[in-house]
Amino acid sequence: MKSIVVIGAGFGGAYAAKNILKRLPPGFNLILINKSELFTFKPLLHEVATGAFSADVVCECIKTFLSHKNLKFIKGIVTNIDFKKRTVAVNKKRINYNYLLISIGANTNFFNIPGAEKYSLKLDSVEDAFKIKNAIINVLKRDSPKIVVVGGGPTGVELSSEIAEFTKQFKNDFSITVIERSNRIFPRFRAKFATYANKFFNKEKISLLLGTGVVKVGKNFVITDAKQKIPADLVVWTAGVKPCPVDVIPKTTVQNGFFPVDSYLRLNDYKDVFAVGDCALAKNQDGSLVPQLAQSAREEGVVASENILADINKKPLKKFFFNQKGVIIPLGKGHAIADIKGFVFSGFFAWWLNRTVYLMNMFGFFHKLYVVLNWTIGLFRKRDEKIS
Ligand SMILES: Cc1cc2nc3c(=O)[nH]c(=O)nc-3n(C[C@H](O)[C@H](O)[C@H](O)COP(=O)(O)OP(=O)(O)OC[C@H]3O[C@@H](n4cnc5c(N)ncnc54)[C@H](O)[C@@H]3O)c2cc1C
Repeated sequence: MKSIVVIGAGFGGAYAAKNILKRLPPGFNLILINKSELFTFKPLLHEVATGAFSADVVCECIKTFLSHKNLKFIKGIVTNIDFKKRTVAVNKKRINYNYLLISIGANTNFFNIPGAEKYSLKLDSVEDAFKIKNAIINVLKRDSPKIVVVGGGPTGVELSSEIAEFTKQFKNDFSITVIERSNRIFPRFRAKFATYANKFFNKEKISLLLGTGVVKVGKNFVITDAKQKIPADLVVWTAGVKPCPVDVIPKTTVQNGFFPVDSYLRLNDYKDVFAVGDCALAKNQDGSLVPQLAQSAREEGVVASENILADINKKPLKKFFFNQKGVIIPLGKGHAIADIKGFVFSGFFAWWLNRTVYLMNMFGFFHKLYVVLNWTIGLFRKRDEKIS
């Protein structure tokens, strides 16, 4: 039996595996390896971190939406990939592959800034979300608590809005400051997008410190590149991503830990290996990098899996083109800003649209039903204030 091995069951890997299993060629099995038995819907982690809903809304058990007699699921962490020998190492065993698809995502990057990793919290997983929620509940026991969010990209903006809404349930004398190195929030999006968010931040009394980098984080403070010391009872770090650690042979297949791929999403020197999602450096036609988004990871997963099937069936491969449909950033309950093909709007409709898109990107029917029920109840109840 030949093997197609998929590493990582996030947006890229899970969608690729689902697509391959629909038309798994005879004589092949699919081996899916993931750190946990759960698919995590990362774009909703902010809401878990701020008590809007429980972890089971963002997690789906992989075995409930992927099944096939020739599917083998392995729970484990891949520690090494040997492209020359065509093997991957997991749980102290070596597995051979005929085709390999890598979709291991990315981690928070603290950029080696002193104290950043030690004294701030990140938001990459459900465990991180619980840590943030518990930390918020604890710091709110102090007088006039100060919360600092480092990074004014989508994660930082969304998280600070959700924190503001959660915190208001407890008290009014708190402060939230977002620190962003660029001269505006959402540096990679249209300026109009940032204008909407600024207005929202003013209304919610979230302060912005723009054109400012953080150079040190300590217990209860951050220091900026302008040598300003900002008191902080809680620091949340959302300022960038770095590759997930995996040892590869040969080392030339990675660039700063990420996998450069051609327009078919294959590694340059290993045509039986595909990489998608946050761990891959896929390029747009103009040479710019495809953004690290759930949307692009999912589309790359589908195209790479189609290409694996095409290669097996000796058919021509398909080039990957990322056609971004839009961006929607939720800003707390019932509010979001959206940019759909240049049309920028905000409010309840944008929020509803975002929820609908999220729902479409989840897998199981019963899970979706459960999520809709949860969201509907969430519209009428307070956020959960229990330590998780
Ligand atoms: C807080 C947050 C909010 C976000 N919000 C949005 C949003 O609103 N819209 C949007 O489009 N994008 C958003 N993103 C980005 C989006 O989630 C990612 O771009 C997307 O998840 C990338 O998909 P992926 O498959 O590459 O990686 P992931 O979804 O991260 O999946 C990678 C999988 O690989 C597994 N894995 C990693 N290393 C190994 C290993 N060595 N062995 C085995 N398994 C391994 C991981 O456990 C994980 O299951 C957000 C991200 C975060 C963290």
